[in-house]
Amino acid sequence: MTKTVGHFVNGKKIAGASGRSSDLFNPATGEKSGTVALASAAEVDQAVKAASAAWPAWAATPPIRRARVLWKFKELIEARKDEVAKHIVDEHGKVLSDAHGSLQRGLEVVEFACGIPHLLRGDYTEQVGASVDSYSTRQPLGVCAGITPFNFPAMVPMWMFPLALACGNTFILKPSERDPSAPFLLAELMKEAGAPNGVLNVVNGDKVSVDALLHHPGVAAISFVGSTPIAEYVYTTGCANAKRVQALGGAKNHMVVMPDADLDMATDALIGAAYGSAGERCMAISVAVAVGDKAADALVKAMRPKIEHIKVGPGSDPQAEMGPLITKQHYDKVRGYIDTGVKEGAELVVDGRGLKLQGYEGGYFMGPSLFDRVTADMRIYKEEIFGPVLSVVRAKDYEHAVKLVNDHEYGNGTAIFTRDGDAARDFASRINIGMVGVNVPIPVPVSYHSFGGWKRSLFGDHGMHGMEGVRFYTRLKTVTSRWPTGIRSGVDLSFPMMG
Ligand code: NAD
Repeated sequence: MTKTVGHFVNGKKIAGASGRSSDLFNPATGEKSGTVALASAAEVDQAVKAASAAWPAWAATPPIRRARVLWKFKELIEARKDEVAKHIVDEHGKVLSDAHGSLQRGLEVVEFACGIPHLLRGDYTEQVGASVDSYSTRQPLGVCAGITPFNFPAMVPMWMFPLALACGNTFILKPSERDPSAPFLLAELMKEAGAPNGVLNVVNGDKVSVDALLHHPGVAAISFVGSTPIAEYVYTTGCANAKRVQALGGAKNHMVVMPDADLDMATDALIGAAYGSAGERCMAISVAVAVGDKAADALVKAMRPKIEHIKVGPGSDPQAEMGPLITKQHYDKVRGYIDTGVKEGAELVVDGRGLKLQGYEGGYFMGPSLFDRVTADMRIYKEEIFGPVLSVVRAKDYEHAVKLVNDHEYGNGTAIFTRDGDAARDFASRINIGMVGVNVPIPVPVSYHSFGGWKRSLFGDHGMHGMEGVRFYTRLKTVTSRWPTGIRSGVDLSFPMMG
């Protein structure tokens, strides 16, 4: 039986009314598994009205009570984590352990958001002038919206709405139309946890619903995660409509392997970071920069047999280490990049094209691929592939490696593998990238730090979660107050001085 995913508005599941829908597929089999409704501007308006109506009471709810709802939400997810993970496996194709791992990282943001009474504590100064006191407080923005990508259907929405809600905003989530079931379940659990109707809404859709959110005067702020061209569009359009916007985009993450690196450690780290989740991670390593030919030769030699032993299979197989790609269209795109790399003259050391799995011939499975001798002018180096393809670039020395990373248009994550403390410190200081690992291949910040890249990987001024998230979802108000105490200055038109 195929499923139909609609919208979740004002605490109720509702069927789509636009007459438009998109098909859902199981990436492991290629079979259609259902449809998802695509909202019209009128349906988005209905969600904004519900979120606007719910906002005053939610904003006035003491932060500790909002935190209690989130605490209950965390318990409900923990009780039903297998169900959430199954939706991720069935619609995204991730292997089960990866689905659980990403859900756990999302839950950690909920745990952080449960500390909201402490996070919203303001500043107070007594006696900024004679009998004058001043305090600063952070207040919610109103209705916030989140637009999320396919690759983390639970975690990326959980970077956004738990903290937005904790800060006193109401929220409209527009998940990826390719894997909408996990985020839909999260909204149902938030209602079960005690969130009043209209506090968290889910509108499924495509560009039509995104544009409706970007132009709606009732939406105060937009959080976006996805590809760079759409991130830039969302940022410029949202700002032109006077909204606060944070828009996280694509990536091309480099891992620099110095000649003194622990080769075993670097090899294993690279393989996990390049091929985990079939390379469909914005923090995946897609470029290994080997410093010196000797390091490059050793690295390629050590990686090759390990890559050939990666077990590719459906996410439901507990033995599988790497699942399929999300859609046939994405499979064709990644395959096209491998063809391009060969034409551009890179050396294809491991070729993942042509992998067929018995019993899953219709699935979008691509084996892991490794290119050596990739150069900075090649398309496979410059563009984000977002698949299980790792490029080795040979740098002549450390400075060349730093220049490669700093000159690339993306600036999400990077790592250096070395035993040299001086090199590591210099790299962390001079590198033009938002998230940096030292002997850590995927330096995703924990929930109480903030996630965000530089350059064309982030449009806007705030990263996700941590204090950046609190700042994004609140605005500062400073109150200066005086109580009548007998001090009177009379009418005074000069510039107000306190001291
Ligand atoms: P995408 O940009 O295609 O889609 C993201 C969202 O935008 C979806 O909700 C989609 O419905 C919507 N959208 C798509 N086309 C649109 C259009 N023309 N106008 C308005 N809205 C539109 O991204 P994706 O393929 O779902 O996800 C993969 C991308 O996301 C990769 O580039 C990856 O690097 C990036 N990503 C970045 C981060 C990060 O934190 N920087 C995290 C995860 C994924």
